[in-house]
Amino acid sequence: MRIDLHTHSTVSDGTDAPAGLVRKAAEQGLDVLGLTDHDTFDGLSEAHRAASAAGVELLAGVEISTQVNGHSVHLLGYGCDPDEPALRDELARIRRGRAGRIPAMVERLNALGLPLTVEEVVAFAGASPSVGRPHVADALVARGYVAHRNDAFAVWLHDGGPAYVERYTPRLEDAIALVRGAGGVAVLAHPWARGGADDLTEPFLELLVAEHGLDGLEVDHPDHEPESRAALRTVARRLGLLLTGSSDHHGLGKTRNDLGCDTTEPDVYRELVRRVGERGGRP
Ligand code: AMP
Ligand code: ZN
Ligand code: FE
Ligand code: FE
Repeated sequence: MRIDLHTHSTVSDGTDAPAGLVRKAAEQGLDVLGLTDHDTFDGLSEAHRAASAAGVELLAGVEISTQVNGHSVHLLGYGCDPDEPALRDELARIRRGRAGRIPAMVERLNALGLPLTVEEVVAFAGASPSVGRPHVADALVARGYVAHRNDAFAVWLHDGGPAYVERYTPRLEDAIALVRGAGGVAVLAHPWARGGADDLTEPFLELLVAEHGLDGLEVDHPDHEPESRAALRTVARRLGLLLTGSSDHHGLGKTRNDLGCDTTEPDVYRELVRRVGERGGRP
């Protein structure tokens, strides 16, 4: 059984539409696909329809933008009830913040000598309700200023970078509570990638488990080096956390993230689905 629990579609910043992503997963021999678009559930109904047709099991998910000590941390919520008002409203607030700073980022880029318009950025977001930096990156690529999204992030858009503008995100602890309140299972996405190890220390992870109900850690992820995977595995075992693995596939939007390049063990997946059932969520 091959299980990939973290992927993105055009509903956030992936390049495959939800149905196309599901079909690609089936073609590539995946049995279970988790769709976890940034801060929105909008792709799930299309993905569910495609999954029954393609013979793939779909796990409903979302990747929530949160913060710890003012640094960005991503939380995966699985099986959340998309109609639960507190989570639904918070996701809408996060999306407004994500999209709302696009004009300011465009202004920065203009001031830095890179002519660009908000309309160009929005065009790259298509029908996505979650317009973000990756779409700014696409517009920079289209203008020929950089060769790939990665380069746009490396030079201009990375956290604290020349064209970076802050946005609203909830505290990680509060986001875990919202996921749990919506019947979902809370798993930290790529916890030790991009400087995460400084904020998500072992004592803090222990507190998240004991006091906030964190369920798991995404240990196997393309942004984790072998050493951090080994260390995180030890932490996850000691704290009794679910240990997941996923590609974080973004279609053509990210290199090194081929579907199924990292996967989750069937036992872990079954336990995750069992918890969703127990909490009244919607897998
Ligand atoms: P935003 O949510 O608008 O702040 O943009 C952050 C998103 O950009 C992340 O969730 C990633 O999906 C994506 N991202 C961050 N760093 C990179 C990078 N180096 N290359 C491509 N995409 C990135
Ligand atoms: Zn993304
Ligand atoms: Fe992420
Ligand atoms: Fe992701």
